[in-house]
Amino acid sequence: MTERVGTEPSVFTRILRGEIPSEMVLQTDDVFVIRDIAPQAPVHLLVIPKTDAYADVTALAAGDPKLLASMVEAAKVAAQRAGASDFRLIFNTGAGAGQTVFHVHAHVLAAPQGLDEGTMTGGMPDGEEA
Ligand code: 5GP
Repeated sequence: MTERVGTEPSVFTRILRGEIPSEMVLQTDDVFVIRDIAPQAPVHLLVIPKTDAYADVTALAAGDPKLLASMVEAAKVAAQRAGASDFRLIFNTGAGAGQTVFHVHAHVLAAPQGLDEGTMTGGMPDGEEA
């Protein structure tokens, strides 16, 4: 389990504060959803808790499972709004698995309905295979 270290705000906290521009697609009381700056699929969203208290999904699941459930619900709603009822939900967990931002977030990868599934990448969101 990884706790966040240091006092610097994460890139996602800076996005939430409006210090870094982003394409916000959904906000709830505790979660926000943005488009990934480097999409790996026709729909590539990031679901992010507003709190930066949890570095990864293992810390979040142990510390606030309700917030994890809120992330999953936000992923479903955001994917539907993007035209995708089916989607992949990926939590890179640890640097060795490709995690680069240690403020827990889920990648939503999808192809809108009617789009050829072959346009989806089969690999990891960072482009590397596990
Ligand atoms: P990780 O590699 O930690 O699982 O995912 C971090 C994700 O954040 C990457 O897919 C990366 O493209 C995305 N990202 C990093 N910086 C920014 C940014 O400033 N804006 C947006 N929209 N996405 C970002």
